[in-house]
Amino acid sequence: MGGLNPPPVLVATRSAHKLREIRGLLADLPVRLLGPADLGLPEKEEEGDLEPFDTFARNALSKAKYFHRRSGLPVLADDSGLCVDALGGGPGVRTRRFAPPDRVARWGRDEANNRWLLERLAGVGDGARGAHYRCAVALTDDLRHEVVEGIVRGRIARRPRGKGGFGYDPLFVPDGHDRTYAELPQAVKAATSHRSAAVLRARDWIETHVVRTRTDG
Ligand code: IMP
Repeated sequence: MGGLNPPPVLVATRSAHKLREIRGLLADLPVRLLGPADLGLPEKEEEGDLEPFDTFARNALSKAKYFHRRSGLPVLADDSGLCVDALGGGPGVRTRRFAPPDRVARWGRDEANNRWLLERLAGVGDGARGAHYRCAVALTDDLRHEVVEGIVRGRIARRPRGKGGFGYDPLFVPDGHDRTYAELPQAVKAATSHRSAAVLRARDWIETHVVRTRTDG
C-alpha cells in the first residue's frame, strides 16, 4: 500500500510563472509538484548552459536530466518559446534571450523582449503577424525519459495589452480570440495554451510511472 504522502515530482524550472501554470494544470493528480527552491536546490551558473540545442525537445530533456541528477526525483521540465512567421520561425529556441543585453538591463527581460519583437515587426501588416507558442515537456526518472509537445497558434498584436500572464503574453492573441493572453482570463490560457497541450500529454507518463508505481508498490 502507498503511504498517505503523495509522491514528489520536481518541476525543473526557475520561472515562478511556469511553475504556477504547471501546478494548476496538474492540480488534480495525487503528486507533490515541487520547484527547485522547495528542495533547497540553489541556482547554479551552469544552469545557464542547459539549453544549447536547436530544438525545444532537446533543451527540455537536457534540463530534465540535469535536475534529475541533482535531485534523484522524477522530473518534469518545460522548454518553450515563440515562433513568429514573419521572422522565419524565430526567435524559437532563442526566445528568452531575444533582446540584446543592454535592452534587458534597461527594461527588464520581458519588457525588453516585447519591445524588441515589436520593433522587428514594424511594417509587418495585420495579415502577416501569425505566430505560435511551442512547449516541449520532458519527463525523466531513473529508468526512462519521454518528451511531449504542444503548440497554440495566434498572432502578434501591434502593442502590449493586459496585465496577466508573463513573457510575451501581452502581445500574443490566440486564434479564436481578439484579446491577448495577458487580457484573457487565466482559465482561457489554461484551456488553450501550448503548455496545457503539452502537460495534458505528460499526464499519462506521470500517472503510469509516478502515481501507479507508488500505489502498486
Ligand atoms: P525558457 O525558460 O528557456 O523555456 O524560455 C521561455 C521563453 O519563452 C521566455 O522568454 C518566456 O517568457 C517565453 N514563454 C514561454 N512560455 C510562455 C508563455 O506561456 N507566455 C509568454 N511567454 C512565454
